Amino acid sequence: MSNHIIKVDNLVKKYGDFTAVKGISFDVKEGEIFGLLGPNGAGKTTTLEIMETLREKTSGQVFIDGMDLDKEPQAIKNIIGVQLQAAGYYPNLNLKQIINLFAGLYNRDTDPMALLDTVNLREKAKNKFKQLSGGQKQRFSIATTLINEPKLIFLDEPTTGLDPQARRNLWDLIKQLRERGCTVVITTHYMDEAEELCERVAIIDSGEMIALSTPAELIDKLLATGFQRPKAMKAANLEDVFLNMTGKEWREG
Ligand code: ATP
Repeated sequence: MSNHIIKVDNLVKKYGDFTAVKGISFDVKEGEIFGLLGPNGAGKTTTLEIMETLREKTSGQVFIDGMDLDKEPQAIKNIIGVQLQAAGYYPNLNLKQIINLFAGLYNRDTDPMALLDTVNLREKAKNKFKQLSGGQKQRFSIATTLINEPKLIFLDEPTTGLDPQARRNLWDLIKQLRERGCTVVITTHYMDEAEELCERVAIIDSGEMIALSTPAELIDKLLATGFQRPKAMKAANLEDVFLNMTGKEWREG
């Protein structure tokens, strides 16, 4: 049996004449935290949403836990955790009620307060989603991905807009999920986050995969070229790898 929970083979996504994802292939190992990195517009969200069964691919193959995305999208939905867009939360229900509603839909016996504790929102249980701050909304949306006890969780820029404490707490939560055997696929623009969390990262640029390795190997490879970081304590970090590979120019959003 393969220990790959995700297999993506030659994935292509076209939006009209524009090819956003240009034949990328990668595997994600069961139990790892896998990072999808790349500049704005690289194709990360497109790739993520195809794996989440939320967006149609143009061609290529995707297998999730051995299931073919083309044949068993519903079975795939049952084992994955997906962060919903804010619009997906019923504005007039409070957080506890939303969790109970989702738990009912998934037919799970979830303890809403315990779940709110994991993202430090217990005292907001009676608040409506629209009354939360941006960071609190973000944390709540991560909590809701856990309701169906997924084997595999997709997080699209989960710490964007969070304060440093919330970021670090979420890193701890993501690590706890891995310790429970959950596989996590995460997109992020923060290289420190990728370096801290991810066993392996894929770097995508303009729809093409330009690297797939562990952060440490990517850093060592850059250092082997003679790269030296100006006035740094350490000679290089993953941010150097990323900028060295993808350039420093502004990208369109
Ligand atoms: P970011 O870091 O800015 O979130 P990303 O790597 O997630 O970027 P995508 O959102 O996957 O990038 O977008 C990849 C490319 O596809 C971009 O050029 C974007 O404009 C284009 N694109 C995305 N969605 C659509 C759509 N529905 N219709 C047309 N083009 C789209």
